Amino acid sequence: MSSNDNSTGMRTRCVHLGGRPEGNEPFVPTIAQSTVFNLGTAEEAEAIFSGEKPGYAYTRFGNPTVQKLAEAVASLEGGTGAMVTSSGNAATLCAVTIAMAGRKGSLVTHPDIYGGSHELLGILSDTFGLQVNVVNPSDEAAWLKAVWQAGAVLLETPSNPLMRLIDLRSTVEAAHGNGAQVIVDNTVATPFNQRPFSFGADWVVQSTTKYLNGHSNVVGGCLVKREKLLAEDRRVHKNLGGTVNAMEAWLVLRGLRTFALRMEAHNRNGEAIADWLSRHSAVSKVYYPGRGEGRQEEIFAQQMSGGSGFLAFELAGGGEAAEQFLNRMRLVTHAVSLGGMESLATRPAMSSHRGMSPEARREAGIADGLIRLSVGTEGLDDLIADLRQALEQ
Ligand SMILES: *Cc1c(COP(=O)(O)O)cnc(C)c1O
Repeated sequence: MSSNDNSTGMRTRCVHLGGRPEGNEPFVPTIAQSTVFNLGTAEEAEAIFSGEKPGYAYTRFGNPTVQKLAEAVASLEGGTGAMVTSSGNAATLCAVTIAMAGRKGSLVTHPDIYGGSHELLGILSDTFGLQVNVVNPSDEAAWLKAVWQAGAVLLETPSNPLMRLIDLRSTVEAAHGNGAQVIVDNTVATPFNQRPFSFGADWVVQSTTKYLNGHSNVVGGCLVKREKLLAEDRRVHKNLGGTVNAMEAWLVLRGLRTFALRMEAHNRNGEAIADWLSRHSAVSKVYYPGRGEGRQEEIFAQQMSGGSGFLAFELAGGGEAAEQFLNRMRLVTHAVSLGGMESLATRPAMSSHRGMSPEARREAGIADGLIRLSVGTEGLDDLIADLRQALEQ
């Protein structure tokens, strides 16, 4: 574990999210499944609408259960304020809209950002003329130059599925040199393993669908701000409309109670399976955070305290071997997504990256024999036994 490890504090924080109940309050937050709230007298309503007195009017504007989730995620990421959204993509849209407001220059991002974010930026670019500049961070000088000229920056580290890391400290420094905000998608690393705010990032985006909820039963998102949320930030959030109801927020709050415990297990299993796969003769390459060429190891030590349970590996036998592997799995399920307690595997060439031409895929490093594996919290021996039989049958 490197010096930015914070697992003990994180364990306690997860169990006590929301703080001690006052008086006779329930320990578990109530589910305020109501669209409207009593505004009281005309004077009280005025105080709520003007923001003079805290209170709720309509769930799209704010809701007590949803607010508890916002505070919980802000606390885990080490941010000051947060806004909950109906999906990770809705959080990215909201963060990009806020960060680009009034800015000249393009939104800088990289080629191996999450596929859904890539498509979202394509739509914003085609429909509204958002200028998007896609730059490869492995050419560090070109990346930092583009970042320095950016209107805002949207990045994801580790990337998906090749687990490439981007240096947060130098990126933030370059962006701030010209007043650009940096949005970090921290879905894969999670705040358990990486806290972008400690490197000066402005926004963190989370798909709570993944590790934060962890139970594969909610699609949701959250955007967290390092500094205090402004009235303008809230105005964008409520009017873009990707907000949630109390029940969904409550399910994620419930998932968060075990977040630290689950991440300890994901980290342990992920690392052990990356090691096991790299020793297997049927596997030609393993992608796991901190293990790539160049400065990857150094960046890992600087900004991550664990690798999570998400990895990818290439089968020496190519596409055919990858198909056979998927068909032979017994414990691991063939399914998209990541971050649940159950192990899932896909073949990017036929799922997340099927829209690309074979040449474009090769250029992006997505081999036909590449398998993406979200390592769950099952017993390590059971997982290895399943991988072994699927590789060797
Ligand atoms: C899944 C995912 C998203 C999008 O989240 P949804 O909840 O599916 O909208 C964004 N970024 C990353 C890294 C993801 O894995």
